[in-house]
This record gives sequence, structure tokens and C-alpha cells, in this order.
Amino acid sequence: MARTRLQSIELSIRRLLEGPPRIELTAVFPTQESFEAQLPTWRPGRYELGQFAQYIYSMDGKGKDGEWNALKKTSLHTWHVPEETKAVRWVFHADTFNAGSTGIADDILYVNPVNCFLYHPNHQEWGYTITLDDVPAFWSVATGLPTEGGKLLARDVQHAMDSPILASSNLWHRTYTSNGIPFHIWVYGQTIPDEQRFIQEHQNFTDAQIAHFGSFPAPHYHFLYVLSEREERHGVEHEDTTVIAQGPSAKCRTEDGHMELIGIASHELYHAWNVKRIRPAEWTPYDFSKACPSRMGYIAEGVTTYMGDLFLFESGVIDLDGWCRLTERLLDRHLNNPGRLNMSVADSSYDTWLDGYVTGSPGRKGSIYVEGAVLALLCDACIMELTSGEASLQTAMRLLWEQFGKPRIGLTEADYWSVLNEVAGAPNALDSLRNDFADGTKDSWEALVAAMEHQGLSLTKVRRDGIWRTTLIAA
Ligand SMILES: [Zn+2]
Repeated sequence: MARTRLQSIELSIRRLLEGPPRIELTAVFPTQESFEAQLPTWRPGRYELGQFAQYIYSMDGKGKDGEWNALKKTSLHTWHVPEETKAVRWVFHADTFNAGSTGIADDILYVNPVNCFLYHPNHQEWGYTITLDDVPAFWSVATGLPTEGGKLLARDVQHAMDSPILASSNLWHRTYTSNGIPFHIWVYGQTIPDEQRFIQEHQNFTDAQIAHFGSFPAPHYHFLYVLSEREERHGVEHEDTTVIAQGPSAKCRTEDGHMELIGIASHELYHAWNVKRIRPAEWTPYDFSKACPSRMGYIAEGVTTYMGDLFLFESGVIDLDGWCRLTERLLDRHLNNPGRLNMSVADSSYDTWLDGYVTGSPGRKGSIYVEGAVLALLCDACIMELTSGEASLQTAMRLLWEQFGKPRIGLTEADYWSVLNEVAGAPNALDSLRNDFADGTKDSWEALVAAMEHQGLSLTKVRRDGIWRTTLIAA
């Protein structure tokens, strides 16, 4: 029996380099019926509304008479496409070079589809066949998307929105292999000063993470480094890709800039399992049409922050002293945020959609990254102590990967804690950690000192000029 060919949206992208940097996108949807075309309202990795419609200059439909007419909005993020529309064309502002944005210049086309691709809300199974209209054949195209006849193919809406595209005449490209999986490093911007060290460190933390999870979730993986001249330092995770932005680009040539990139890279790779696969039920699958709050941001970002750094140590990229310095910085941020004593990290996770990425009202909330990582550290130490070092938080993360990530079952808070308890050896082993530091707002200092002591480390703090500073050293 012949397989029905899956339907696909034919989408082409063209740079508009005259005037403010913009791209023009043209899409032919495989329907003649009317529908509401939806633009995503947020992007995974940043759990707040992105309001990408603010970057749309125009939205037109081509009628059966061949004329282009403006489409009417039906909500802030949807447009009515009348029946028998032959194509939809829109213009999008493309002048942002962070890890989750869209930007262009003479030598680059950088697109995060989740910013700027329209989709049909009732046909999210439709794929995309993407043409980069004005990209010369000699440019490199870095993306996790497969290509066919010079076009990029996305299986469906979830796949397209998860697949950044970086095309440029100026891409540095190297590869390495871990456990039979090809890993690609692509760099736009300044060259990396010590190429061999950069690749070797990627190899080391990749080998260590795969060894601890037992398998890798994707058939390939791409690190896309966007080193622009804008002030940036962050990364965004995808299933088989990450974009890491750092600027100004010369920063990568300093030791601090180098270590910052490697730290972000280890964090983002860990996300390939934790959050891209071991994913809160509220985000399985992603609903791009509205805010999707979850109380589990502290698992997605906190565990990843803690593990990203720990794997730098595990794999020898940094030594114990290096790990202690990173942890001191984390604990300083923790101690100096009174918001952790006002709102639990689980409630703060839910509220990232309100103010998770700005300072916000003083002393109101905790950080899913910082307080989440401190909680992960306490859980790790507790599991190791209860099992005499036989198991750790990573043992639980591996089980979560096997039981929830691989079969793509959305995770609940109850699932997470029950797997941690199981690994720790008793059904209520971590209840007090959960009550005090995930759902509650108890001060963590005594627990931290005890956890470090058990690991053979001495943790102290002093307060100067109203600011806490921690010291962590081998006891
Ligand atoms: Zn992250």
C-alpha cells in the first residue's frame, strides 16, 4: 500500500538588506479553506511570552486573482486567511542576535523559526519545506534539519519550531564523534583562539554526559555559536541543536570568555535530555499559542545548571578548585537573594511567565536557575549520603530519561520526586528537602554546610557591606 505523502507548508525566506534589517517570508499552505494563521507567542527555553508579533511589519494574502491584500488580525497573534488564498507573505524585523532570535546582515541569515513561522493551529502535523531564497550556494548552512534538493525539511510544527537555521559565508566548522554520534561545532564571528582545546573540552563533557545517561537522544547534534558584536551571554536548547550567543565577539578570545562558552555548552547539552526529553507535562507537546506555566522550572533549569557545571568537573575540564569557584558564585547569588525566603522555587517557576527574566519586585521571588541548582545540589548530596555513594541525582536523572524521556511521557512533580525517592532508597527519603526547599521557603544554609561537609568540603560565609560572600574549600 502506498504511503500518503505528509502535507507540507512551502515556505521561503529572503533577506531584505535595504533599510532596517528584515526578512520576508512567503508560505503556501496546503489548503484552500479559510483558517486563522498563528504566530508563536513564546519560545521554549524562555518561559515567558515573547510577543513575536511585535516584529511583524506586514501580513498579506495572495487572492485567487493574484492580488496581494493585507490580512486582518483576529487576535494579537493570529491572522484570518480567507478561502482560496494562494500564499501568505509577511515581513519580520531581523536585527537581534541572541540565542533565541532572528537576525541578518550581509554575511548571515540567522533564523529561529519559533519567532517568525506561521502555523495552522489545527494542522500541526503539517511539515515545512523551507527555501533560503537569497542564500548563495557557497554559504554554509548549519542546522539540525535534514535537506533535500537544497531545501530544508521539518516533519511538523514541533520539529520546525525546534530547529534554528544559521547560514553564512563565514562559518568555522569542526566535528567530533562521541558514542558513534556526530557532533558539529559551528562558529559565526571571531575565530576560537585554541581550536584544539575548544574541541577537546566539548568531547570531554559530551563523553561524560552520554556515559552517565547511557544513550544520546538524537542521531546528531549541532552547537551553533553566534559571536556577534552585541552584549550577550546565554544559550538556548533544542533536541538536536543548541545556539550559544556571546558578545562582543572578541570575548571568546579571553580565558573568561572561553570558560563561559564551555560552561554554557555543557549546560545546553545536558538539556538534550533534561527538558527537551525529560519534559514537564505542561510542555508536552509545546503549545505555542499561549502561556504554559509549570511549577517544574527548577527541574528544567536548576538541575541543568547544577549538572552542567558538575560535568565540567566530572570530565576534567575543570578541577575541584574550579568547581568550588563556580559553586561559590552560585551560592553568593543564592544567599543575596531575599526573594528565596518569600516565594518557593516551585511557585517562582510558575511565575517566570510574569517576571522570571527581570529583577522584578525586590525580594519577591527565587530564581529557577540559582535556587533550582542549590536544591539539585542538596538532593544530590542527600541521595549520595543515604546510599553511601552508590547512587546520586544523576542516577535518578538516568531513570527519568529511561522512564519518561525516551517514551516522551510528560513529567509531573510527583513523578520527579518519586523517582528521586526510589533512588534514595525510601518512599519519603527526600520529603523534607521537597517541603523545605522546593515547595517551601526555608533558609538552606545549615543544610548546605552539612551537605558540603559530607563531601569533604568546608563552606563558610561572611557579610561585608551588606553582601554575603561564601568560601568553599577542601576540608
Ligand atoms: Zn538552561
